[in-house]
Amino acid sequence: MRILVVEDEIDLLEAIVEGLRIDGYAVDSSEDGDEGLELAIVNDYDLIILDLNLPNIDGLDILKYIRQNDKLTKILILTARSTIEDRVKGLDLGANDYLVKPFHFDELEARIRCLLRMKYIQEDNEIEYKNLKISIKSRKASINAEEIKLTKKEFSILEYLMKNINKTISQEELIEHVWDNSVDIFSNAVRVHINSLRKKLKVKLDEDIIKNIVGVGYIIEMPMEEN
Ligand code: CA
Repeated sequence: MRILVVEDEIDLLEAIVEGLRIDGYAVDSSEDGDEGLELAIVNDYDLIILDLNLPNIDGLDILKYIRQNDKLTKILILTARSTIEDRVKGLDLGANDYLVKPFHFDELEARIRCLLRMKYIQEDNEIEYKNLKISIKSRKASINAEEIKLTKKEFSILEYLMKNINKTISQEELIEHVWDNSVDIFSNAVRVHINSLRKKLKVKLDEDIIKNIVGVGYIIEMPMEEN
């Protein structure tokens, strides 16, 4: 899952970015309203965390602008403004949630999980496929209740494919949602991580559940109902 954080308080921005990276998200960030808006337009984020008081462009204007073209990306606003009017205005302009500063990082994490879950209509924090189970909250994967050790990137790829089961995901889409701006899109990073993920799963499952459709992308397919 790929997240953009726009916040001009550097200490807070760095703390959020670092915390979210530890959680395994791909994170881009900006301290500036103009740049933040540009990133939001250019990239396909799953979630944007947006401060309201920003230099150059006000957060509410950014929100308005994003929502004119994009109704799907989840937006969580951070605000020191404690008046009810600002929060109501943010929600009316299409924000999905808000947090009033100062907040506890645990609460931010919980709200992010909730927002990203809503997008994929997952009722709980676990997704199962045959004997394989992943927990979005603990970011662990297990097969027959035995944990498989995955790297953060491997887990993020598996999570994205399992949230989009039966849908072919192109390499570009994986890059958009699993990597941040620091990836070299011409490198073979995606293939390297996918191959290593497939190998780890195959050892335990005796089959390769991630199918590669040449020239199109990757898919985890739900098996047909057995009669
Ligand atoms: Ca601010």
